[in-house]
Amino acid sequence: MKPQIVQIRKELLSIINAVKTRIEIEKGFGVNTITLSKPNNVMTQPAKNPLTKKKPIKTTEADRQINVSEKERKSQLLEELRKEMLVCHKCSLGKTRTNLVFGVGDPMAKLMFVGEAPGRDEDLQGEPFVGRAGQLLTKIIEAIGMKRSDVYIANVLKCRPPGNRNPLPEEIVLCMPYLIKQIETIQPKVLCALGTFAAQTLLNTKAPVGTLRGRFHEYKGIPMMVTYHPAYLLRNPNDKAKVWDDMKKVRDFLNEL
Ligand code: SF4
Repeated sequence: MKPQIVQIRKELLSIINAVKTRIEIEKGFGVNTITLSKPNNVMTQPAKNPLTKKKPIKTTEADRQINVSEKERKSQLLEELRKEMLVCHKCSLGKTRTNLVFGVGDPMAKLMFVGEAPGRDEDLQGEPFVGRAGQLLTKIIEAIGMKRSDVYIANVLKCRPPGNRNPLPEEIVLCMPYLIKQIETIQPKVLCALGTFAAQTLLNTKAPVGTLRGRFHEYKGIPMMVTYHPAYLLRNPNDKAKVWDDMKKVRDFLNEL
């Protein structure tokens, strides 16, 4: 066989393998259908100019030191906030919680997820998104090529509403300053609101999540994607494809940075 044909065959095989891997990831995330929809981004991204290649950025030792100290500074601020919240009883949920569910992840995260409130598993373990919905969120994160430890995950409410009832408006008002401080400390490049309460609270709107999802909004200058909550997806698996579409937009946005 001619060397060029061998080379073309090799390249074709590597493309087929890459496609296979992508299909496996999408199947793992649970997407069985492909939706064809018009892009409806509010924040229109400029088209890629293939001639303007990004210059590789060299990380010097000085940059590395700055990053380390910045991470330490953010970790310290978050820890101080967590300690402050451990004794919080501003609303009645402080009395019924087993554990405060502060938030988890990389203080330097480029992507921050915001959910609604802790459930039973989260209340018992003191960590957000550790139950079945949390396992699905981990798969979603992995499907866009990231690890759970790369992102930051928090909720609007830090204590579990009894019986997993919906958060009350007064509980959200009292707890929101903590989430705002978390976002201000982490300064993510992108926020992702999971479900109705996170989206409506951060965007100060009553619009349903179904009309908000699928496009970037803005929270205090930070681009914010809205998508369905993983717990909703467990009950409505047919909507996984929509979340996959939303998350691909987040992935592409992060890749453009
Ligand atoms: S839900 Fe928020 S405001 Fe209410 S007690 Fe817990 S930390 Fe405090």
